[in-house]
Amino acid sequence: MEVRKVFLTEDEMPRQWYNILADIKMNPPLGPDGKPINPEDLAPVFPMNLIEQEMSTERWTDIPEDVLNVLSIWRPSPLVRAISFEKALDTPAKIYFKNESVSPPGSHKANTAVPQAYYNKVFGIKRLTTETGAGQWGSALSFACGQFGIECKVFMVRVSFDQKPYRKSMMEAWGGNCVASPSTETQTGRDVLKESPDTPGSLGIAISEAIEQAVGDESGQTRYALGSVLNHVMLHQTIIGLEAKKQMDKIGEYPDIIIGCAGGGSNFAGLAYPYVYDKINGKDIAIYPVEPTACPTLTRAPFAYDHGDSAKYTPLLPMHSLGHTFVPAPIHAGGLRYHGMAPTVSQLAAEGIIEPKSVNQLAAYEAGVLLARTEGIIPAPETNHALAYVVEEARKAKEEGKEKVILFTFSGHGLIDLAAYDKYFAGKLNDYVLSEEEEHKFETCFENNPKPELLKSC
Ligand SMILES: *Cc1c(COP(=O)(O)O)cnc(C)c1O
Repeated sequence: MEVRKVFLTEDEMPRQWYNILADIKMNPPLGPDGKPINPEDLAPVFPMNLIEQEMSTERWTDIPEDVLNVLSIWRPSPLVRAISFEKALDTPAKIYFKNESVSPPGSHKANTAVPQAYYNKVFGIKRLTTETGAGQWGSALSFACGQFGIECKVFMVRVSFDQKPYRKSMMEAWGGNCVASPSTETQTGRDVLKESPDTPGSLGIAISEAIEQAVGDESGQTRYALGSVLNHVMLHQTIIGLEAKKQMDKIGEYPDIIIGCAGGGSNFAGLAYPYVYDKINGKDIAIYPVEPTACPTLTRAPFAYDHGDSAKYTPLLPMHSLGHTFVPAPIHAGGLRYHGMAPTVSQLAAEGIIEPKSVNQLAAYEAGVLLARTEGIIPAPETNHALAYVVEEARKAKEEGKEKVILFTFSGHGLIDLAAYDKYFAGKLNDYVLSEEEEHKFETCFENNPKPELLKSC
């Protein structure tokens, strides 16, 4: 029998995370005055130990023993060779994936939820607030907070709250509390509801609500947690790629191609950054983040300074952004509907070290269903976007007659997203491509940008 799965023992789990900031130069985040922010500026929002990680340029960070203990509930995650999928595609390419769907909440988000809950706990924080789109991050953080005995409050984007009721059930099973956003609990929420009572909500609004509530707690015991985009999140996710390298070593393989879907960039970065390190040091390897054509942050939006949320609470981050007021088309990959992109992913794209791609919704589902019918596992709508591009590379390998080794992140399973699959099977899902008219809205959004020289195309 051919090798189908590669496992590591718990002893072989990586003991350190890799920090890409040791190996690339970044523009700093800016405050409202247009000057680089200080660690203290972030202190009302995040605990100081995580702020230090956010700003650190040390290449390696030790993973605390208490964090490893919780991660070992499901890690190391399996490396899987998708042999039946390869056969169906009739490709000479070998296709491997890191199966991050085996975590309790069903996605890679638990890899950062656990350390974030831990660092807040040891800093003396009693309660975390956050936002969630499709519900994956909210459920991951509820699970992690439950492990460390702290409270978790989740603002869930209204449209997903209504579409995916079982995500709320999961959060409650782990002891979290979830409300639809916009809510009546915050000034931001009340203001939005007054203007548009029937709004479907957005991630930008939900982030504003969560930050407002964290900063507004006068006891000082509440902080906010973010599931993607920030440097410390990318850091925690590198355990994916560090494990993958050990697993590929065991079977004598090295990837030619790395692929991950990119919403805020974290599952992609988690797999890719340890390989980006190799690429910076001379390895020949192609690295592709894949986004939806409906929310083409890396492939069409300018590289600029923008806020992470609609109410402009966050510092200005140097990133590819569609503008903090952007509300994308209602594609079902909720985790890929964010207006911005991790600053480190944006920087690597600007330097040409990684090469962004975009795929349409129907191609994504087609690839996802093919995986389900061959390998059995049903992917999350986000993961389907990575898969659509895997299919494209597998076809190219066939045309060229080359035995390419492709490695991608299977970021999560789709068992809570089956309503979206129902729509796909009923022919009710559409392709969306951002229109030129919408693209031109960028210009007004970035009118007051403090660093116009960072703008590529606006
Ligand atoms: C949140 C999520 C994503 C997108 O977020 P990234 O930070 O880009 O990884 C992708 N896949 C799944 C399953 C998710 O839950």
